[in-house]
This record gives sequence, C-alpha cells and structure tokens, in this order.
Amino acid sequence: MKYALLHRGDSRSEELADMFHALARKRRLVQDDEDPQIVVSIGGDGTMLHAFHKYIDRLDKLAFVGVHTGHLGFYADWKASELHQLINLMSEETMRLEDKLVMYPLLEVQLHRVSISSTMYALNELTVRGSGVTLVAQLHINDNLFETFRGDGICISTPSGSTAYNKSLQGAIIHPSLEALQIAEMASINNRVYRTLGSPIILPKHHYCDLYPQSHRQILLSLDHLHLICDDIISIRCRVADRKVRFARFRPFPFWNRVKEAFIGTEAE
Ligand code: NAD
Repeated sequence: MKYALLHRGDSRSEELADMFHALARKRRLVQDDEDPQIVVSIGGDGTMLHAFHKYIDRLDKLAFVGVHTGHLGFYADWKASELHQLINLMSEETMRLEDKLVMYPLLEVQLHRVSISSTMYALNELTVRGSGVTLVAQLHINDNLFETFRGDGICISTPSGSTAYNKSLQGAIIHPSLEALQIAEMASINNRVYRTLGSPIILPKHHYCDLYPQSHRQILLSLDHLHLICDDIISIRCRVADRKVRFARFRPFPFWNRVKEAFIGTEAE
C-alpha cells in the first residue's frame, strides 16, 4: 500500500511521524507523496484539514486516516499508542481498502467576484464575516429571498463539520451519513427593524443557498483553516458537493461514540 504522511510540525508529531515511517518500511508500506492510497495525518483535526486541502484534487483516489497527539479529534481518532496496530492493519495482505471506507459529504462553495469566479470545497465549513464591520447580506434559498442578515456572520457547515464551529453557534450535530448542509447565524442583530430566523437551518442535498453581501464592504471568508478577505463579492452559492471525502476506518469507532467521548466524557453508571 502507498501512503503519504503529514504531521503538525511539533516535536511529538515529528517523533511519531519518524516512528511511523520506520515501522511502515518493515511492513513494506511505500511512501508516495504524489500518488498515495492513504494519507496519514498526525497531529489534530487542524492537521487533517491541511491534509484534505493538500490532496483536494485527488479525493476520489485516496482515503484519510488521522492520529491525534493531543486530545481526541473528530478526524484524528487514532491514539499515538495505537500506531503499531494501525500499521499492522494497513499492511494486512487480505485488507481491501474499499471495504474499510466511510464517505462524508463536503460543502461546495461557488464564489462569484467582480473579476473572477471559483469553486472551492470545505471539509468543515465556510464562514462569512464582515471584516471589521457588520456583515449585511441577503440570504436566498433556492433562488428565493429568505432574509436579510445583519450581524457578525454566517457559518455554513458540513455534517462532519457540525461538531466544530457550528457547535459553538448552537447548531445541531448532524450524522455524516446525511447529505446536508447547515446554516448557523453568528450574533445576528434582531430588533423591530432587522429580523432573521434566529435558528439554524438544515438544507438537503438538492437545495442550495446564495449569499449576496452588501457591496463595497470588506468580507472575511474562512474555508476551514484558510482565510480570504474580499471587497468585490457578488454572490456566494453553497450546496452539498457531488464529491465526497473518504476516511479509512480500520476499526469501528461510531460517530456518536466520538461525539460522546469528545464532549461528554465517561460518566459513572
Ligand atoms: P485548530 O486546529 O486550533 O482547531 C480548532 C479546534 O476545532 C480544535 O480543538 C479542533 O480539534 C476542533 N475541530 C476542528 N474540526 C473539528 C470537527 N470537525 N469536529 C470537532 N472539532 C473540530 O484551528 P484550525 O486549524 O484553524 O482549524 C480550523 C477549524 O477551527 C475551523 O474549521 C473551525 O471549525 C474551527 N473553529 C472553531 C471556532 C469556534 O468553535 N468558535 C472558531 C474558529 C475556528
């Protein structure tokens, strides 16, 4: 099996990466950064976001697996102490990667600016915020004006990103087997003049939304860990992408168990 490895860059992650390469050589796993079947990320969820965007053009050819060096992550769900077990499972001759894959939906973002249009993909979310000013933007759903938003910003997340920024905004947690996107408000201004729904909204795969920010305002776009400031946005369309991201699940770790471990912990029976 061919693999690529990315690590967070701290000494613990670097040490684990060296250990991984040494063990992998013994098990005849081949490092291939250009054409890997598996991308191993060592660090945290942030490292997985970097890995995802690095290999964004090859999503249908590879699967990701994450090892955490701090607390349990949502994408980085293998412990450092389980490295041997992970490599053993990766190198098993009878192992068919296709049987071990889970696929999560992604967010497609079509950004239309005065000079250029582009399509981007998020694993967690897109946030749209005013840069030093209030965000004023019309939100359309399926081409119909839904509301005019005024406030800090809007977060549009994937199901697997629903446990990240979206959760801090009181959004719902969505199981990644559901193909949906979630729109959550960031501190909307609501009074007798300005009115927004105030609740998170979940759109199914065949729906889409468009944001039309008030012109000439600087907008800060954050796509996962990537940030961009623009003052020439015409519209931003978000929908569930046709592409998906693949994670290699060499052992079961159900989503709701991860949610419980990350946010609730183990309580005495
Ligand atoms: P980072 O690596 O410090 O990540 C921030 C935190 O978000 C970490 O604790 C990480 O484990 C957690 N996280 C990331 N993806 C997650 C997921 N899918 N489910 C649960 N937790 C998750 O910072 P970064 O590298 O810049 O990561 C960017 C991410 O940070 C963004 O995608 C966003 O979701 C998150 N973020 C959250 C807040 C917030 O909750 N108020 C604010 C900014 C960014």
